[in-house]
Amino acid sequence: MDSSKQTDWVARSLKSVWHPCTQMQHHETVPLIPVSHGRGAWLYDSDGKRYLDAISSWWVNLFGHANPRINAALKDQLDRLEHAMLAGFTHEPVITLSEQLAARTGHVLGHCFYASDGASAVEIALKMSFHAWRNSGQTGKQEFVCLKGSYHGETIGALAVTDVQLFRDAYGPLLQRSHVVASPDARAAKDGESPAEVARRAAKDLETLLQERAAHIAAVIIEPLVQCATGMAMHDPVYLTEVRALCDRYQVHLIADEIAVGCGRTGTFFACEQADIWPDFLCLSKGISGGYLPLSLVMTRDAIYDAFYHEDVTRGFLHSHSYTGNPLACRAALATLAIFEEDDVINRNRISAERLTAALAPLAAHPRVQHFRRRGMIWAFDAIVDDPVQAATFSRRFFTTALEQELLLRPIGRTVYLMPPYVLDDEEIDGLARRTQAVFEQVIGDRS
Ligand SMILES: *Cc1c(COP(=O)(O)O)cnc(C)c1O
Repeated sequence: MDSSKQTDWVARSLKSVWHPCTQMQHHETVPLIPVSHGRGAWLYDSDGKRYLDAISSWWVNLFGHANPRINAALKDQLDRLEHAMLAGFTHEPVITLSEQLAARTGHVLGHCFYASDGASAVEIALKMSFHAWRNSGQTGKQEFVCLKGSYHGETIGALAVTDVQLFRDAYGPLLQRSHVVASPDARAAKDGESPAEVARRAAKDLETLLQERAAHIAAVIIEPLVQCATGMAMHDPVYLTEVRALCDRYQVHLIADEIAVGCGRTGTFFACEQADIWPDFLCLSKGISGGYLPLSLVMTRDAIYDAFYHEDVTRGFLHSHSYTGNPLACRAALATLAIFEEDDVINRNRISAERLTAALAPLAAHPRVQHFRRRGMIWAFDAIVDDPVQAATFSRRFFTTALEQELLLRPIGRTVYLMPPYVLDDEEIDGLARRTQAVFEQVIGDRS
């Protein structure tokens, strides 16, 4: 496609498409990339320029674009059944997917409830927790607890357990406020404090609240191991152990939002495995369909499921979405899970993660880099930018400069992070590290 066509796409998009979480006026200076196709870790624009998708297209893509195995599964499914409603009907992809996921929790989380987007999964977990308590006679439990800097999605219910200042300022009046307790973010360490000690200190803050309010609290919702959207805030697994124990002691549900951290992202299939705990509800989305189709789900313990099992309709869980359990999306998820098995992905990722970490060592040692950190297949660091004007535009300048280096990277504020798909070869890993450093040096250098 020629450049005039590309310019035409951009103009038409800006005239007709309202892009997500975007101040549209910024596109007067920030480029809009018309993607024509993808292959492996690369996206290609309509001019033939390519970009390494180092953030997995908002953390959803696991095994590359146009993955031959996922494509084949979808083509096969397309000729069998594209969709059927899941109320009163069932089908093989949704059954097999539910069985395989339950097996991955040792059948502790025995049932899967389906939706389409991550935020809907969060809404479901919140509603289910409240309703499960009500069904067991505990009608006073109506409140929720989230962590400082938490992100659980942008619908009104999910925003109520999201602690992002920008959203709070804009939509606060619409939200039923939840309790916000200390984050176990390891960067909050006081002199000599270990990450585990920071985690225990944060757990104490939760305990103080539970001592007072547990009778009114339905659930605590957390992002296990990495609070991604707040800027890849990482914490010690002991936090999960502590929170699980507190939830048991004070009779409060634990919701693990593994929408971003699940599916191998933190080095185990589920992040909770690293603390050897299971929540009462586990939310999954993003990577579960390999980045192909909107699919989310909530896994629950049998005790929760049993609390709804009754002849009375109003004791059942009252929730549905039109595309609940869509067969194509479930089939993409099954193909994704098959790749985990066939390619021994969790172990293979360990090797590529070591290589990328080593290749990033010079950048980690840069004098304007702070808090270089990694958990599994997530790397992050904070840029030291003193000038407030430069700091405010850091993310946008980094994004634009990265595009010139064939990289798709979008820092969160001053936090630069890499969340690549699990398919990079050695050359791509080394190139990613080298180019990220070049972009960083250019953007940091621009300030003088
Ligand atoms: C992305 C995300 C969500 C929301 O998912 P959507 O599909 O964007 O609605 C919820 N929780 C976490 C932790 C996320 O990263």
